[in-house]
Amino acid sequence: MSNIENICYFCGEKATSKEHIPPKAFFPKDNRDHLFTVPSCDEHNGDKSKDDEYVKIVLGRSADLMLRKDLDEVKSSSERAIARNSRLKKTVEANPEPAIIVLPNNITISSVSHEIDLERVYGFFGSLARGLYYHHEKEVWKGRVSIAPHFLIKEDAEQEDLEKHEELLGLFDRNDSHGENKNIFYYTFVYILDDDRVWTGACILSICIFDEFKVSMVMEPYYN
Ligand SMILES: [Zn+2]
Repeated sequence: MSNIENICYFCGEKATSKEHIPPKAFFPKDNRDHLFTVPSCDEHNGDKSKDDEYVKIVLGRSADLMLRKDLDEVKSSSERAIARNSRLKKTVEANPEPAIIVLPNNITISSVSHEIDLERVYGFFGSLARGLYYHHEKEVWKGRVSIAPHFLIKEDAEQEDLEKHEELLGLFDRNDSHGENKNIFYYTFVYILDDDRVWTGACILSICIFDEFKVSMVMEPYYN
């Protein structure tokens, strides 16, 4: 049996470093107690740091967090990163379109929305799912991960899609979730059982970032 501490959470190869799941940068500096790490190889650590930064910026810049004072530090670190890096700025501000933001007091603000790089968003959440599974089950997830980012669903989506999202959203339970800093991050695993109450090998991971952005990850083994 290989020592679980020494193998990469993503691929099972020899680990050379550790990384925080979710990345430390998502948490304000005074709110980083209880964060945990998983071992990773060079490829699966280095590879994802750009996705991590991108997702942190896209979520942090969302109008939904405009009034969140507790995230000021996280948001301002994103702005500094953008100011330093013109390529990052270009990626984050791709294909601008006019948008209207409605605040809770019904004041509207004209703004700009940007096209989201879905590949990066999916890459980020896919790694997060595998990292959480590893942390939880002490083994590498060998199946597929299908990602449903609920915060990206369009109001004019197909009825069937909307129903699927509703069903997955029904699995979220903030009170009965894992996470020491739930304003920043929490998650739950639901294991899918068959009619005889035996685990099918599949599970659904519900995660919420910044108490705002919900994503479901349907994790299924590769059936032969
Ligand atoms: Zn790896």
